[in-house]
Amino acid sequence: MTTKTSISKRILVTGGAGFLGSHLCDRLIEQGHDVLCVDNFFTGSKRNVAHLLDHPRFELMRHDVTFPLYVEVDEIYNLACPASPVHYQYDPVQTTKTSVHGAINMLGLAKRVRAKILQASTSEVYGDPEVHPQPESYWGKVNPIGIRSCYDEGKRCAETLFFDYWRQHQLRIKVVRIFNTYGPRMHPNDGRVVSNFIVQALRGEPITIYGDGQQTRSFCFADDLIEAMIRTMGTGDDFTGPINIGNPGEFTMLELAKLVIELTGSSSKLKFMPLPADDPKQRRPDIRLAEATLNWKPGVPLREGLSRTIEYFRKVATS
Ligand code: NAD
Ligand code: UDP
Ligand code: UDP
Repeated sequence: MTTKTSISKRILVTGGAGFLGSHLCDRLIEQGHDVLCVDNFFTGSKRNVAHLLDHPRFELMRHDVTFPLYVEVDEIYNLACPASPVHYQYDPVQTTKTSVHGAINMLGLAKRVRAKILQASTSEVYGDPEVHPQPESYWGKVNPIGIRSCYDEGKRCAETLFFDYWRQHQLRIKVVRIFNTYGPRMHPNDGRVVSNFIVQALRGEPITIYGDGQQTRSFCFADDLIEAMIRTMGTGDDFTGPINIGNPGEFTMLELAKLVIELTGSSSKLKFMPLPADDPKQRRPDIRLAEATLNWKPGVPLREGLSRTIEYFRKVATS
């Protein structure tokens, strides 16, 4: 086997046909890399990468990461996992398997081929946080037996595995904790708040507010997130993370609903519904580590990112 000396790398993106994965594939192809996109199409879709299918440096493989995968690559971005509560609670056992067995398989692969590997972790590792905003040093407040636990604890266990492969096998790892991210290619029936509100507003249906709408989230536009993810992969081998990536702007769900109504010009009314169990009351990333390490900060404000996302949903969700 010859060692590649050019800057073009062979990169595996698991979950590459999903919302974030497909944007990541786009950027990596643009940068001149060979991209192997692996997905079982549970929440992702071939449509998200259809424009890449004829590209000579792009390859799409249907595969479930809970099964072993033998390929030769230089870098791995491990994104495979449903991210919306509706989807990850549909088959919670499979969700934990995807996070845990998926991480073991991808780490085993990284170990065999000595690839650098990045884990798409989540702000959910902080649970319903008692420290606000959340720095990476906070260990979180997570219910281990609730309806969100398959996702939260699965992702926490995946982080544990990454750090044990790093300590035990000297793997080059990067763990990014992603805070709520939105943008074009979110699934219209994804169930997450941004896609729900936009689709409801465009269809003139009631906007569903869970609880009193005073809970907060911080929303990052997909392009900003992908930039930070790629920069994290490019950090020196001594940098492992965990590193928060997100936009620190913090909004209540009521504020978000009003903004979506204004930007869509919708006549939708608000409809209050029960708050799901274990729904975090507040969330905002402390991104000082990302600013210092990656020389990065999010550039797309919520208003602008929402407008671009609304434009996308006008094309796909109202037809
Ligand atoms: P998504 O649901 O659009 O993408 C997940 C992708 O993984 C889909 O294409 C799905 O088909 C695939 N997948 C699921 N199980 C699989 C399996 N067993 N084998 C192979 N592929 C599988 O969600 P997203 O928002 O693009 O999230 C991508 C990653 O980022 C996830 O790991 C998620 O936990 C993480 N993340 C996202 C956010 C966010 O706000 N978007 C926040 C925190 C973390
Ligand atoms: N694995 C994989 N692809 C590889 C190498 C390993 O999918 O190229 C899987 C393999 O199925 C194994 C897991 O990764 O179960 C963990 O591998 P590791 O070498 O760490 O452990 P072991 O093989 O000793 O269980
Ligand atoms: N939410 C809401 N209406 C919806 C969907 C979600 O009020 O139609 C709320 C949800 O209860 C949570 C917040 O919006 O407080 C963000 O939910 P999402 O599922 O997008 O992400 P997560 O809870 O995982 O941050």
